[in-house]
Amino acid sequence: MLLVLGGLGVAGIVGHSWGGKKQSAAAPKARAAARFARIDSHTHISPDGIERALQIMETWGIVGMVNLSGMSPGPPQHGLETQLAAARASGGRIAVFANAGFMKALRMANAGIRADYGNVMAEELALSKQLGAIGLKIPKGLGLGYPTPDGKRVLPVDDPGLDPLFEKAGELGMPVAIHTGDPKAFWLPADAKNERWDELQAHPEWSFRGQPVPSWEELYAAFERRVARHPKTTFIGVHFGNDPEDPDHVAKMLDKYPNLYIDTAARVPEIGRQDAAKMRLFYEKYQDRILFGTDLGVAAEQDGMMYGSNGANPPTLEDEARYFTSTWRYFETRDKQFESPTPIQGRWKIDGVGLPEAILRKIYFENAARVLKWRPPPGPVVAPRPAPGPATAPASLAMPPPAGK
Ligand SMILES: [Zn+2]
Repeated sequence: MLLVLGGLGVAGIVGHSWGGKKQSAAAPKARAAARFARIDSHTHISPDGIERALQIMETWGIVGMVNLSGMSPGPPQHGLETQLAAARASGGRIAVFANAGFMKALRMANAGIRADYGNVMAEELALSKQLGAIGLKIPKGLGLGYPTPDGKRVLPVDDPGLDPLFEKAGELGMPVAIHTGDPKAFWLPADAKNERWDELQAHPEWSFRGQPVPSWEELYAAFERRVARHPKTTFIGVHFGNDPEDPDHVAKMLDKYPNLYIDTAARVPEIGRQDAAKMRLFYEKYQDRILFGTDLGVAAEQDGMMYGSNGANPPTLEDEARYFTSTWRYFETRDKQFESPTPIQGRWKIDGVGLPEAILRKIYFENAARVLKWRPPPGPVVAPRPAPGPATAPASLAMPPPAGK
């Protein structure tokens, strides 16, 4: 049975009629016109998720999204070509970052076909730009999973063999969104004392405790050396500079490296725990260096969605509403102790920073437009309305799950 339905995913087999779910995507109650134009600079949209992405934009006041799951170009999968073609259907509302074909290049090096895997990926990146990608996304697999060509250890984030790739990104004017490490709690014992216990119970495999991976500190040091080594390359340290638990540390990094920017993806729960007055000073000081992002995972079907993080069960439209409402409330109000966008990330409440309008405009839109050299068309988003009856969208292309959290 699973084989027959292959490609729809297990979630698609459980309950719900296809038509019902399609319609519900447009269901959340109408909202007053958005006060701000927002670019979501950090999303993961599967090729069949474009319509739903447009519906989310229209519903929640977002005018453009950046899909960081562009995959890499060329055979056998032509993943980037597929993602770019899908994005084109958005009428310029969705831009795409390419991924580097790490495994392909490392396998070629291992087979003795080409030892210079960094150059292989640099050439591929030039092709990605020609095809239409506007940046490069490096997932946390670098440092935590991709092997050295001999397969003996984990390839370090600052591996010199990769230098040509990061240099090429600078030459091509393609910003590098880089995810290094993960929440620090994932390195601590996964038990009831762990503040991410809810999340780790739902996803035991997210724990790095006892795994053959570098420590959080080693990973971060390698990330810093990487940023330092390529001053002409623009880096976006995703998830609040990869250290949302320690904004003082992120501030030091921003002071030290003018080529470093950060995004806010999936980390409002973490930064919302900080003292709001202190965070306001952070946003004031670094108002030109911060890009708004969500880490939204978008698929055709509701069960394939991810709003920053997921529990054991697929997320609902209520989760979607809480995700955006709490996020806007964090940035735009000074409300205290309200529910975080993703309570599964920890059982605490958050405080809003209530930023002035000029700073909000930068973080929501202008910084992304400038750093990514991309802007969506002006005017409101008008999403296509799903036709009544069963959905006809093709099954998702096989793609890695969004590496959110
Ligand atoms: Zn992400």
